[in-house]
Amino acid sequence: MNLTIYGAARQVTGSMHLLQVGQFKILIDCGLDYEKDRNIQANENFPFRPEEIDVVVLTHAHIDHSGNLPTLVRLGFNGQVLCTPPTADLTELLLLDSVNIFMHKADKGRKHRRGKGKFNTAAQPLYLQKHVMDAMDRFVTIGFNRPFRINGDIELTFIPVGHLLGAAAAVFKVNEGGTERSIAFTGDIGRKNYPVLDDPQQLPPVDYLVTESTYGGRLHTKDKTVEQALVETIEKACVKEQGRLIIPAFSIGRTQSLVYSLNKIFSSGLLPPVKVFVDSPMATRATQVFRKYHNLVNQEAQEFYNKQGDEFEFENLEYVESLKDSRQVSNYFEPCIIISSAGMLEGGRIQDHLYYNIQNYYCTILFIGYCAKGTLGHRLLRGDPIVHIKDRELAVYATIKQTDVLSAHGDHQDLLDVVKHQDKTRLKNVFLVHGETSSMQAFADAVESEGYVVTIPEKGIKYELN
Ligand SMILES: [Zn+2]
Repeated sequence: MNLTIYGAARQVTGSMHLLQVGQFKILIDCGLDYEKDRNIQANENFPFRPEEIDVVVLTHAHIDHSGNLPTLVRLGFNGQVLCTPPTADLTELLLLDSVNIFMHKADKGRKHRRGKGKFNTAAQPLYLQKHVMDAMDRFVTIGFNRPFRINGDIELTFIPVGHLLGAAAAVFKVNEGGTERSIAFTGDIGRKNYPVLDDPQQLPPVDYLVTESTYGGRLHTKDKTVEQALVETIEKACVKEQGRLIIPAFSIGRTQSLVYSLNKIFSSGLLPPVKVFVDSPMATRATQVFRKYHNLVNQEAQEFYNKQGDEFEFENLEYVESLKDSRQVSNYFEPCIIISSAGMLEGGRIQDHLYYNIQNYYCTILFIGYCAKGTLGHRLLRGDPIVHIKDRELAVYATIKQTDVLSAHGDHQDLLDVVKHQDKTRLKNVFLVHGETSSMQAFADAVESEGYVVTIPEKGIKYELN
């Protein structure tokens, strides 16, 4: 068999790996490459013919792993897409949201170009709702830890890795001419004791490992639990200062973990009640998916449910649906917490909340996730005194805070533990993907010093796995 890393090679986005066994071609993930954001159409240029791929295996729903699937189907892929049941449901939500983002950008592009007599191809949607539905028709779901025969020679097992509901490592057992080999793709690896999600499960012993390395060389701060960090911030922002706390959060995953943590805080009386708005229709739909797969949330959340009922509902919590109601939130002058998307502040309802609150001394903005360079979130975090929101320059008087307690990625030590669990005498090579070059190098050094062979693969190079 052989392996070619096409995406997330020495970068974070656009995960896409090709595993070939004889003539049979398996694509592991088909993510959108944001690095091509300025020309989204570049995602159409697959380095193979889409109809050549026999099957796609999807590790989890995040758009950098799933976001280019409708393009693959639109351009001729006609096999099955294999993933866990929650991944199928969450992927549908995220792909439909991608279509909305494409349409929004196309509209903006048209307005910008109007009168210039030019057709802006860069702003054309990469795919439409119809293509998302065509892609979803190809999904076949497989539960965790249930070996599934792809064909007579290849068996696939999904192992839970935390990170996001439904997220899995894909472990393949391959029989090539009577010799059995195994290879695992970690997808993204989560962390232990994460609200709502189970801890990552150890992988079985394999011959080859393709692992993410996002947090290579970096450790999460561990001096506070999620609840301690939230209590501290809410107490200052909403109780002492009687102001409002805005938490930009991804609608899928991060918001549910946040809501559950707030539920625990308020129901245990750690803080006096504070009104909480979750202002994101997609978060409401994603929460339904979490309720549907309640058997997959961690034991603590299940016990909470048994004692106190729905972990995603509590007094003073309001899910905001309509745009009209969203605007009303800005007129709510009591202390409150507003959870809204998008996490990096690029688009979404969060922009309205910032527009009305960024000049308010009694407002705190708490970042709980990564903000890429070039985003409004990044500009606020680096301390820009004036920012551009909705065609206006606004001075920043709100307090800006950040915490990594809700990061959904394992850190350097968590990643190293995954490798160290593997038998040194059996594991032949560890391929690193999904990381900036410096993170990959730091992680490669650590893996090597533990006595394993490690490769930082080059994009498009075929590696023979014997
Ligand atoms: Zn992910």
